[in-house]
Amino acid sequence: MSLGISVLGATGSVGSSVLRVVREHPDRLRVVALAAYGRDPAKLLAQVEELRPRLVGVVDADAAREVARRAPAGVEVVPGEDGLRAVATHPEAQRVVAAMVGAAGLRPAWAAVDAGKDLALANKECLVVAGGLLTALARARGVQLLPIDSEHAALHQALRGGSADEVARLVLTASGGPFWQRDGATFAAIKPDEALAHPTWKMGAKITVDSATLMNKGLELIEAHYLFSMPPDRIDVVVHPQSIVHSFVEFRDGSWLAQLSVNDMVFPVQYALSFPERWGNAFPRLSPAELGRLDFHAVDEAKFPTVGLARRALLAGASAPAVLNGANEAAVEAFLAGRAGFPSIAGTVAAVLDEHAAQPVANLDDALAWDDWGRRRAGELLAT
Ligand code: MG
Repeated sequence: MSLGISVLGATGSVGSSVLRVVREHPDRLRVVALAAYGRDPAKLLAQVEELRPRLVGVVDADAAREVARRAPAGVEVVPGEDGLRAVATHPEAQRVVAAMVGAAGLRPAWAAVDAGKDLALANKECLVVAGGLLTALARARGVQLLPIDSEHAALHQALRGGSADEVARLVLTASGGPFWQRDGATFAAIKPDEALAHPTWKMGAKITVDSATLMNKGLELIEAHYLFSMPPDRIDVVVHPQSIVHSFVEFRDGSWLAQLSVNDMVFPVQYALSFPERWGNAFPRLSPAELGRLDFHAVDEAKFPTVGLARRALLAGASAPAVLNGANEAAVEAFLAGRAGFPSIAGTVAAVLDEHAAQPVANLDDALAWDDWGRRRAGELLAT
């Protein structure tokens, strides 16, 4: 029997990898619903034509009308936020791929878990903004959170090598982005197109800038904490420019387990869709002899303060990670629009965190309100 899946964020970079995995396993995976914001209606329509889902959610109203007009008969199109919710909770979906960008993906991901769906999670901001709440909801509903983020998919695999009390620490690998060797004194001159040229991964604009500032690794540190119940002081980061080792687990006896693969998102996507099974495929294979060597370096935290900021927010707990996330999203948006310099992304996040004393977060609305507060406060600071 095939697994019914829904995809939130179908036309983005992870959505495209999901489709490659679905094409590889047409007898095992069946796409029952797709959702996208609607920036690229032609791409969405091509996916609908190929996969014939039952339901398509399109947030943008104009794009939703266009998709509805041109979609094959029998495909239901639902506009707006309702469309995201309908895709996330579709009765025939057993596993939902959360591949939207930023805190905007949190409500539909939450709806999926609340409806009892296993969540294949690429949208890390969901766990940064509401990690404690979302993991508690998943436990209460008896559903699995399966990471698609390559580092966390690696940890999920390596952690199968021992019990929780045998784990000493998690070590996330970071490509380092395009600037890890660049002189920090020249960071103010960095233009958006330089930050968008990632050396090893091809991804959307927001995560690519996060990779350049290393905030992506900070967000992943928070994500790892919530996914694997690991204290912040037992999660470390090491720069690994080739992005072949996707992360490490160090066990208490001094043994390390790592997961390696070609740096292509089809591997973590397939893992999250096939778990607990492993399926064969014809995707590219790793050739260690061709690689020759793998390099590792310490993170220069003076040049890249973002990992430390994320750790600080996680230690403060409660509302602080949501505030960090909102501030970062606003600062990245300002940088991409030419309204802020590269160093002021981290600078703004630090300034917003400085103003914030962590407050309890009782529910999803609280979490999103703190994300929004961080976003607005960053916007105000960047405007002055
Ligand atoms: Mg990652």
